Amino acid sequence: MKNNESLQALVDALKCLPGVGPKSALRLAYYLLQRDRKGAKHLSDTIADALERLGHCNLCNNFSEEPICSICKTASRDVETLCIVEMPTDLLMLEQTHSYKGLYFVLMGRLSPLDGIGPNDIHLSKLIKRIKESDIKEIILATNYTNEGNATAQYIKELLRDIPIKMSRIARGLPMGGELEYVDSGTLAQSLVDRKSI
Ligand SMILES: [Zn+2]
Repeated sequence: MKNNESLQALVDALKCLPGVGPKSALRLAYYLLQRDRKGAKHLSDTIADALERLGHCNLCNNFSEEPICSICKTASRDVETLCIVEMPTDLLMLEQTHSYKGLYFVLMGRLSPLDGIGPNDIHLSKLIKRIKESDIKEIILATNYTNEGNATAQYIKELLRDIPIKMSRIARGLPMGGELEYVDSGTLAQSLVDRKSI
């Protein structure tokens, strides 16, 4: 099998996808190589291109090809409201509700001591700088309703205690233990409308 090292490398690489174990990875690798080599080439090229061109917005951390993303640049958005989310997928889900017109800040994670993720790993100094240098008057904490998400929201609330700003947490229209990424947009829209001061 020595000359099939590249096949094994492909199988190992595919295992980085969520929900793909060794068996699925092997099936995917064989599918790409024997049934859709053109699609495989296109996939590898577009992944390389996305990795090359996509960085993070200097203001909100969302994915962006420019230093400032299109949401932060849109003049019609409400610049007095900042919604804090864990990941770019959460931002995307909130945008799809079409019920929020403010700005965002993406933490790129959540506090999780067991995984070694502490306050320094979720861009909190950048968040404070953003708040102090802007016209933001209200913050919506839209971290997930998981233990880590709740702890992160609580931590941010304490951190910003001395800054005169209105703070709210998205309402519990979301299922317990639920993640924003997997919630339907109606439920998510309602949780934004029903947000409460904390
Ligand atoms: Zn941005």
